[in-house]
Amino acid sequence: MHFTQCFRPLMVLSSAGSDARQNGGRVRRKESGTNMATPSERLSENVPGPFYVTSECIDCDLCREAAPEIYRRNDDIGYSVVHHQPAAPEEEARAVDGMEACPVEAIGREPISVID
Ligand code: SF4
Repeated sequence: MHFTQCFRPLMVLSSAGSDARQNGGRVRRKESGTNMATPSERLSENVPGPFYVTSECIDCDLCREAAPEIYRRNDDIGYSVVHHQPAAPEEEARAVDGMEACPVEAIGREPISVID
């Protein structure tokens, strides 16, 4: 067996970069400044509103650490969900912090501001 055949899976993972994570054999790369959450994967357990988590979540806890008032683990499904939509500019900023912390872009935001 050739060297590259033995180590190809490891090479694929390492080439995904330090800000990517494996999710069921799928590796997604986070592009700086973009939001690539898939709206069709939005979890029904999110409270209604512009911010949402999708089934692309890998349950890493980073959004919950960044904004626990916005994101919470749903133990029934094993994913984070939005349990409170931001209602003030400070909360909106923290919701964005949590979204930007997500290594697999499983947090989406509809293109409207919750704060006028
Ligand atoms: S940061 Fe992303 S992957 Fe991690 S728990 Fe939150 S939504 Fe899930």
